[in-house]
Amino acid sequence: MEQYDIKSMTLEELKALMRELGDKPFRAAQLYSWMHERLCSSYDEMTNLPKSLRERLKREYPLTVLEAAQVQTSRLDGTQKYLFCLEDGNVVESVLMRYKHGNSVCISSQVGCKMGCRFCASTLDGWTRNLSPSEMLDQIYRIQALTGERVSNVVVMGTGEPLDNYDSLLRFIHILTGEGGLHISQRNLTVSTCGLVPKMYELAKEKLQITLALSLHAPTDKKRRELMPIANRYSLDELMAACRHYFQETGRRITFEYSLVAGVNDREEEVQELISLIGDMHAHVNLIPVNPIRERDFKKSTRQAVENFKIKLEKCGINVTIRREMGSDIDGACGQLRKRFISKGDRFHSKGQICGKLTDKE
Ligand code: SAH
Repeated sequence: MEQYDIKSMTLEELKALMRELGDKPFRAAQLYSWMHERLCSSYDEMTNLPKSLRERLKREYPLTVLEAAQVQTSRLDGTQKYLFCLEDGNVVESVLMRYKHGNSVCISSQVGCKMGCRFCASTLDGWTRNLSPSEMLDQIYRIQALTGERVSNVVVMGTGEPLDNYDSLLRFIHILTGEGGLHISQRNLTVSTCGLVPKMYELAKEKLQITLALSLHAPTDKKRRELMPIANRYSLDELMAACRHYFQETGRRITFEYSLVAGVNDREEEVQELISLIGDMHAHVNLIPVNPIRERDFKKSTRQAVENFKIKLEKCGINVTIRREMGSDIDGACGQLRKRFISKGDRFHSKGQICGKLTDKE
């Protein structure tokens, strides 16, 4: 598939394609810029390419363009949730968060997810398929094009496990952060994983400057296994060894994500266990008060429990942030917009049936 997915091709591959089509190699740079810098959604806009080439590309190399089927905007902070329609009728969710320091977009890496974390809505209907690099890129491209606002930060923290879609993820990173495209700094890109240990070792070899976030959520194997099935495959010992290795290889500090669930992982016992686990790692911990989902009865920790957790970690020299809730009026946990949408039976049977009708449900 990749071979024909022109928006997932690197500049080098495009040059080879132009040669193959009997065209001039410099056309590749023009085409690349139209797709990845100017964020065009059709070949017709690429006015400096000869018409014959455009027609041929249109026929043989259709452009991946996601269509926004639904947009919700928060009245509180301008956060927007997008439901994007893919060519095959599947839908994915992306979020635009507007911060003082710039716009951040959270993208999905798969349609659904097979990791099965107990508190996560994205996994409830299982996994359908991986997203291609172009489908990951286009979530960012369409949001930037639709809002006319520059996206400066990207987090791969939406639906899906990015390291379970490893080759596409790497290609996505190179196109997003490389020259000739949006050229977003690798330091402004965060990839979040539930901890696929062998893939973490592979990623370390790439020596990228991205931030790797590890979804830890529990300080012991026993507790982690209650929350995350992946913990049955890799122990905390193996996971922590992979984190240390990642830091040694890349010099990039890992962010540990810890979603706090009332009475489950937010007590004194867990904070002390967490300190023993990561206390010597110059770690950064991002605390996320769990976002309850209808299908499970996990409860959000109290403000006091969250603060207490933070203070205790900080006393041991651990750097802690509490994830600010964005767009709480349009919320529902990650993946819930998509879930509500598909459970209504609003699947897209053919392109354009519902897509393109931008509804801003406030
Ligand atoms: N599969 C990847 C990325 C997607 S989830 C991963 O596991 O990291 C992004 C983050 O949101 C993860 O830390 C995940 O555990 C967390 N998360 C998912 N559902 C949540 C919820 N309902 N409340 C709080 N955090 C949640």
